[in-house]
Amino acid sequence: MRVLVLNCGSSSVKFAVIDTQTKESISSGLVENIGVNGHVKAKGPAGNIDFNFDCPTHAEAVAEVQKFLAEQKLIDTIEAIGHRVVHGGKYIKSEKVSQEVIDYIRSITLFAPLHEPAHATGMECATKFFPTLPQVAVFDTAFHQTMPRKAYLYGIPYSFYEKDAIRRYGFHGTSHRFVTAEAAKILGKKPEDCCFITAHLGNGSSCSAILNGKCADTTMGFTPLDGLIMGTRSGSLDPAILFFISKKYGYDIDRLDKLVNKESGLLGLSGLSNDMRTLTQAASEGHIGAQIALETFCYKLTREIGGIAMALPRIDALVFTGGIGENSRVVRKTVMENLALLGYQIDDARNEDNGKNSGHIISKDGTPTAMVVATNEELLIALDTEALVK
Ligand code: AMP
Repeated sequence: MRVLVLNCGSSSVKFAVIDTQTKESISSGLVENIGVNGHVKAKGPAGNIDFNFDCPTHAEAVAEVQKFLAEQKLIDTIEAIGHRVVHGGKYIKSEKVSQEVIDYIRSITLFAPLHEPAHATGMECATKFFPTLPQVAVFDTAFHQTMPRKAYLYGIPYSFYEKDAIRRYGFHGTSHRFVTAEAAKILGKKPEDCCFITAHLGNGSSCSAILNGKCADTTMGFTPLDGLIMGTRSGSLDPAILFFISKKYGYDIDRLDKLVNKESGLLGLSGLSNDMRTLTQAASEGHIGAQIALETFCYKLTREIGGIAMALPRIDALVFTGGIGENSRVVRKTVMENLALLGYQIDDARNEDNGKNSGHIISKDGTPTAMVVATNEELLIALDTEALVK
């Protein structure tokens, strides 16, 4: 089945046409700067496009995707649409899109203010421009809904959980679920027989403890700000730091929000960049800020891995994924050296080729298994969509 995967953000619409049989992406693209000065860039079997156009709302963006797919002669081959949704609130699995689902996604806007309204609008636009296609919503939080209460509760009055559903939700669930299935295949086991630590490391990063194929704990929380140090996000903080900065510098809520979401993490620590490639290069040339950022990122990551490992009886594999996890030899090597207490030892040659010549494994034979698995969230969204509409 061919599935149009849509990822509607606050000012962008990303799309891909995935063939679930071949698992290939046939066409993909991005409309960005919605509301400002729209720009579309897309590729397909019949050619590429790249231009600016008038795009005041998501409707014009989805219309442009529809027009491109028609020009590519792909439109009649698509049988369903799968939407990536950041926050699923109460949903524990993917859902067919209905008015009830759209209304619920809008109702939890406070949980992810930039994303949820855009997702709901994206579903309405898709209904308008692709009226005959069934749609499915795939939630980043759903995979984490198996966490036990002791893992998802925060140490604040219980009434905030009861009244306002304040709890750990976890994100990147589609990626953690995808690499769990892949890592199990690599080990020749069923996911339900496996315990993993999955480390999705990209611009946003999170680690999960996978117990018998299900999520037992994860580092992202009520929002994707919690846990690991990220590109521009701080990760976990002593909340009193925010009180201190607010009192001393007069920062209001919006300014604090910008500080911890956009100005912190690798960018804030290094004073240079949020990009791991730039930082690795700069660190090797002696840039102190880059060295501090890299060292702190890897240490905090190790500390979180050590923490959530306590949710498991054993670790069958430590799995690296995401742009950094799949490509950064330096990060993987440093983290595995930091994890010596758990017995991890890296095989430098395997690490150097990202595990490609050793069936993904990057640890030395006879030591605990660590591997690199490329994530593919779009494929999983397409497969979930197919499963629900069939
Ligand atoms: P993602 O959000 O998964 O696309 O990951 C983006 C992050 O992956 C950025 O920090 C990139 O610098 C990093 N990344 C991509 N390729 C490499 C590479 N070859 N070496 C180190 N980091 C990389």
